[in-house]
Amino acid sequence: MAKTITVVGGGLGGLATAALMARAGHEVTLIEGNDWLGGKSRRIDIAGQRIDTGPSLVTFPGVWEEVLRTWDSLGGGPSAESIAGVTLERLPEVGRYYFRGQQANLPVEEGHPWHEAWQRFQGEHGSLHQPITDLLTKDPWDPGILGAGKELLSRYGTKLTTQSYLDSLKWMPEDLKEVIAIHTLNAGVSPDQTLALYATMAAVMAEQGVFVPRGGVYEIARGLENLARAAGVTIHTGEAVVSIAPSSVTTAKATYSSDYVVGAVDGGILESLMGKKPKPPRKLSCSGVAIFGVLEEELPPEIVTHSVMMPDQPDGLFTALGKRHKPDQTMAFLNYYRAGEIYPNDRPVAALLLTAPPDGLSASMGDDFVQQESRRFSDLLGLKKSVVDMMSDSTILDPEYFAGFGAVGGALYGAPAPWWRSGPFHSPAYNTRTKPWLWRVGSSVHPGGGIPAVLGGVLIATRRMRAAF
Ligand SMILES: Cc1cc2nc3c(=O)[nH]c(=O)nc-3n(C[C@H](O)[C@H](O)[C@H](O)COP(=O)(O)OP(=O)(O)OC[C@H]3O[C@@H](n4cnc5c(N)ncnc54)[C@H](O)[C@@H]3O)c2cc1C
Repeated sequence: MAKTITVVGGGLGGLATAALMARAGHEVTLIEGNDWLGGKSRRIDIAGQRIDTGPSLVTFPGVWEEVLRTWDSLGGGPSAESIAGVTLERLPEVGRYYFRGQQANLPVEEGHPWHEAWQRFQGEHGSLHQPITDLLTKDPWDPGILGAGKELLSRYGTKLTTQSYLDSLKWMPEDLKEVIAIHTLNAGVSPDQTLALYATMAAVMAEQGVFVPRGGVYEIARGLENLARAAGVTIHTGEAVVSIAPSSVTTAKATYSSDYVVGAVDGGILESLMGKKPKPPRKLSCSGVAIFGVLEEELPPEIVTHSVMMPDQPDGLFTALGKRHKPDQTMAFLNYYRAGEIYPNDRPVAALLLTAPPDGLSASMGDDFVQQESRRFSDLLGLKKSVVDMMSDSTILDPEYFAGFGAVGGALYGAPAPWWRSGPFHSPAYNTRTKPWLWRVGSSVHPGGGIPAVLGGVLIATRRMRAAF
């Protein structure tokens, strides 16, 4: 029997859920508060050049492929791939990392002092993309997941956090451990707060690749919107939801009654829309200050697409973030796209993303923190000028902007779950017996997860919804 479903939030989680449930034959309405779809994934124009803000890299492409396969399995006609129109392009390397006067690509190049240790690490972990993809996309009671869990646990033994696992690798140079450990900032928290899986991520990314869709990461949001529209979803943008009650969603313009409601917004927002006062979280993931700009000229040819500057003392960074203080030095990315590379731009563009405390504050180009870290990065890259000074036109997104998505202080990944409550053991659940009309997807159930966790969660939740409705 076809059911009526209202999805609240048009980020990647809401769009994917709406697309799959409409394709399964249900009548779906999606309501998004902003004027654009995509949520944290957004496309902007600076001086006529395209730049996508929010997520920049796609990992675990098997999860995206599984979304397309699932959509195809639910009906006939043109394929999901042709409707979504997303082509993932593999970057030549995960990135180039700058740390304590050293630099290395991942995978670490031959001749580098870390090469041998890296080869061993990648050999032991690189092939784990399939079990991790299984964990991301399958129900805990799916028979396939048992093998995946066993395979992963056999690597970690009793060392279940990133920190404890890396500490146990006596053969690995300490500085390489730090480079691997910094990937826990993908969840916005320190290595002692994440599952050992996060150590494996670096090896999997090197083995399987990191990807950017041709045209920019926002193509994922557009592709999901295409699938949602093709499946018949009714989409309302610029219409913020003000309250959610059993089987009804109210905006300033209308009340939508439906059999089911799907909350695809940050957890704190969902609670407050249901009239609860959310408890202020004790811990928060990091926030960021992101500067996007058009460059006056191309950077030297040796600068790769994705460069990573680390702080000399990563512990100091994690401590400062935990206290919601500005760190002395931070971890930063520089994403650099030459004219015509990935985006259809005729000028080079760059995004400088500085990890920042979740203080909810605004930031400007003139801030000491921005100036100092941009200068430090530019010196490491051997640039003549600070990278922000090389931008002829630019815009800045800060913790205040990210707080607009609902997470306290602009925490990019919301309030992190303790490591033992992440992945398949996440809390809150997709659905509970006490509120059978309410389902949750996206950041509200997978804080700390990137696109693969959000889309994998959607695959699991929509499979359960299809079975239940
Ligand atoms: C700076 C940054 C960098 C990142 N980098 C990466 C990366 O490189 N790779 C990666 O995999 N992941 C990355 N991520 C994470 C990734 O972007 C998120 O996991 C993903 O976009 C979350 O999608 P979502 O749909 O769950 O949430 P959101 O994108 O937050 O979507 C929620 C939606 O709900 C809407 N909403 C909120 N309140 C209301 C309301 N009252 N009424 C109606 N609508 C409402 C919001 O406007 C929003 O559109 C990054 C995130 C950030 C912020």
